[in-house]
Amino acid sequence: MTPGVRPLVAGNWKMNGLKASASEFRSMLDGYGEDLADLTGLMVCPPATLVLAFAQMSQDSRLSVGAQDCHAEPSGAHTGDLSAEMLADSGAVAVIVGHSERRQNHNEGDEEVHAKASAAWRAGLTAIVCVGETEYERQEGETLDRVGNQLAGSIPDGATADNLVVAYEPVWAIGTGNTPTATDVAEVHRFIRTRLRERFGAEEGGRIRILYGGSVKPSNAEELLGVDNVDGALVGGASLKAEDLLGIAMTY
Ligand code: PGA
Repeated sequence: MTPGVRPLVAGNWKMNGLKASASEFRSMLDGYGEDLADLTGLMVCPPATLVLAFAQMSQDSRLSVGAQDCHAEPSGAHTGDLSAEMLADSGAVAVIVGHSERRQNHNEGDEEVHAKASAAWRAGLTAIVCVGETEYERQEGETLDRVGNQLAGSIPDGATADNLVVAYEPVWAIGTGNTPTATDVAEVHRFIRTRLRERFGAEEGGRIRILYGGSVKPSNAEELLGVDNVDGALVGGASLKAEDLLGIAMTY
């Protein structure tokens, strides 16, 4: 944790979830509401088809809603794509950009992620910018170089603690059940914090949330979220079970 920073636990549902999921999640949330620390931010990033339903069902709750990707343009001839403005109009307050599955499956490079983060800000959304090394890069000792390059290339100028969240997600830890040691997480998060401070100022850079993502589950949340400069989690698989996502949030 970073003193004075409100942690965020965000669920990334990826390509999962149907209409009934929103009300199911709400029932579970209502059951837990009192137990969640007031200071913890809770977010679900459902597939775009469910952003509106989640925004409607979460209106009088503490849950906020994010999206998983956006196009860089506000509108136009881009069949199948969605702009940040459309996601904001549907009730999203944040959007994940640069997730490693998009970087890999859709060949998105830092430049495109940078444009999408700018689009998020244009629409008034918080950009959750994902960075992280591959297994090969870690074995070769290139983790910090890789993460440093992604930070420099993917985050536009003008980041603040309100408009940016960084998610450190080692590619090899996503969906595998493997996680880095607490020492390794601490090293990368300290490095990211230093870079954010250098670029956006000690005060603002010190308050931007840095989430850890990659095989977070209730049983390892305490250890991972207890690391210095880890200000919450981006949770994939485990977030599909509301009780697991809420269990992780209750770590705080
Ligand atoms: P995971 O995914 O928790 O299933 O490893 C995390 C993510 O991809 O954001």
